[in-house]
Amino acid sequence: MSKRLQPDFYFDSVFSISPSFLFDHGIKAVILDIDNTLVPANEKLPSEQARLWVSELKSNKIAVMIASNNTKKRVSVFADPLDIPYVSECLKPSKKPVITACTLFGLKPSEIAVIGDQVFTDIGSARNGGALAILTKPINNTENPFVKLKRAAERPIVKDFIKNNKDKCFGKE
Ligand SMILES: [Mg+2]
Repeated sequence: MSKRLQPDFYFDSVFSISPSFLFDHGIKAVILDIDNTLVPANEKLPSEQARLWVSELKSNKIAVMIASNNTKKRVSVFADPLDIPYVSECLKPSKKPVITACTLFGLKPSEIAVIGDQVFTDIGSARNGGALAILTKPINNTENPFVKLKRAAERPIVKDFIKNNKDKCFGKE
């Protein structure tokens, strides 16, 4: 399986990623996926846990942006209460979110991490943009049949990564 689709790090939850971990890897901004990364796929608003985690990053001077392939309506309703910029319908694995974050925050791709639960979209976007790629375990599996198919294709890549990179995996698995 292509190394290109492998993440740099794997976390059991986005909330396990600390500001100090990001600092240690030279990261000054994060690009976050919403569905099944920050909240379950059908949650319209950020949870209390998501709000607290985002504000912890911001208070540690880590810039935060949302990038989702979902519609503008879904993404704006979610991002506005967090008071963070977003790109919607961003066609991940396109590198567009990384380019947008570089411009917005005045950073290099190597100072940015893309964080999300899907290999082909989130990790692909990080790789295409030259950013750090952090894969998170999906929050739940209430997904449409197309996403379920992608999960089946992703599973061997994730399993292989976890098996061979224990030092880059954080959490219970
Ligand atoms: Mg997702």
